[in-house]
Amino acid sequence: MKIRTRVAPSPTGDPHVGTAYMALFSYCHAKKNGGEFVLRIEDTDAERSTPESEQVILDSLRWLGLDWDEGPDVDGPHGPYRQSERSEIYTKYAQQLMDDGHAFRCFCSKERLDEMRAKQMSSGETARYDGHCLGLSQEEINSRLGAGENHVVRMKVPDEGECIVQDELRGDINIAWSQIDMQVLLKADGYPTYHLAVVVDDHLMEITDIIRGEEWINSAPKHILLYEYLGWDMPRLIHMPLLRNPDKSKLSKRKNPTSIGFYKAMGFLPEAVLNYLGMLGWSMPDGEEKFTLDEMIENFDIMRISLGAPVFDVEKLKWLNGRWLRESLDEEGFADRIAEWAYNRENLLRIIPLVKERVDVFSELAPMIGFFAEGLPDVSEESFQLKGVEMENVKRYLQFSLWRLEAHQDWQRDSLNQLFNDLAAEMGIKIRDLLAPMFVAISGKPVAPPLFDSMAVLGPDMTRARVRNALTAIGGVSKKQVKKLEKEYRQL
Ligand code: GLU
Repeated sequence: MKIRTRVAPSPTGDPHVGTAYMALFSYCHAKKNGGEFVLRIEDTDAERSTPESEQVILDSLRWLGLDWDEGPDVDGPHGPYRQSERSEIYTKYAQQLMDDGHAFRCFCSKERLDEMRAKQMSSGETARYDGHCLGLSQEEINSRLGAGENHVVRMKVPDEGECIVQDELRGDINIAWSQIDMQVLLKADGYPTYHLAVVVDDHLMEITDIIRGEEWINSAPKHILLYEYLGWDMPRLIHMPLLRNPDKSKLSKRKNPTSIGFYKAMGFLPEAVLNYLGMLGWSMPDGEEKFTLDEMIENFDIMRISLGAPVFDVEKLKWLNGRWLRESLDEEGFADRIAEWAYNRENLLRIIPLVKERVDVFSELAPMIGFFAEGLPDVSEESFQLKGVEMENVKRYLQFSLWRLEAHQDWQRDSLNQLFNDLAAEMGIKIRDLLAPMFVAISGKPVAPPLFDSMAVLGPDMTRARVRNALTAIGGVSKKQVKKLEKEYRQL
């Protein structure tokens, strides 16, 4: 049977290096075996999913050189490849599961469920749906449906015994059914949950090997049961270890830049980023650390994936990137790549209007625009000693701005201008004061070319990374401070 793998990102934020990591291993496994690699967009969380996020995920994976055989933008015989366009398919299977007695309608209110969970937790039990609506008569169901009552569809789960999850890398994992919740399959809005959609799609898209993060191991019993209920063959499961911060916690943007776009904006080579991600979970038979995607595919063997906790270490990535620059690019190639990166006409045409009025000779340009092609500016607490803004407020202003910027998608001068004006108004402070530390965070200096235009040129990943860099430079924000600030922020 032809090996078919997939990567299934949810378009709810930045293109995460973890997504690229799963995509790389899925890609290599398919290509090594002459198979196919599919990209599916899991946008069933209608509130958090955005087309902008989908686009940057596609762009980032393409930048890395991971091309898919089927996906929302290239189509294919198993489409649509966006879950939001497949609603009818999920409804059909939810109905089939109900007809066959494997799923049921649940009318429980949020209050009842909260109370039930609180009781279970306080007596040390696993929080799990108690089966309240399992015994409703057809008559009662019909009358409640007729009255238009809100409800969800849940799957039935055995109370006793255990499920054996067969993981290709980890062997058999036994999980007691009593630990598994009667998962909601269709939400009150008619949208499927991840669990129903992933099973239906992996089956209909003929996925043979599911490579995904280890955080999904505990969900596997639900999926296995759904395959059984629907009479479908179970694909092979491969749960990859999660990427970690150097302190071994789960990789997070507070401690490490996690967006692929950041690495692109910093001037890393896509080959080096892919090589590094590959190295985190796998090694060449001869132990060579520098390898190309083709070399990885040629030597790939899923069974040689390492289960040790892989630490994403930016310093190591930098070292590897340095090797790529020195060993794999001649001067011509180097010149082409830096032009592709930032030293190109298109970029200059965006920067020139911002500085044209301020220079008399070209030689004045370098100090003025150097920060556009800089990584993270070298700032310290001293850089933020600003007239009229106390240190305590610098932290508040930067953190509030960062939260707004993290939620912001439309990366244009005017909308950024609007964002900061709104924030200053809500905080009841002068826009000048709010922006003073931002100038330093973004350009490394208190005066710089127009701020919003500069942010627009730098792009979202680099802008946010510089604000985080500034916060670190002034001592970081402790968990306690975050809590306090969050409370204030929510009241704006
Ligand atoms: N949409 C899920 C995620 O983004 C996919 C998990 C899976 O691969 O099954 O993590």
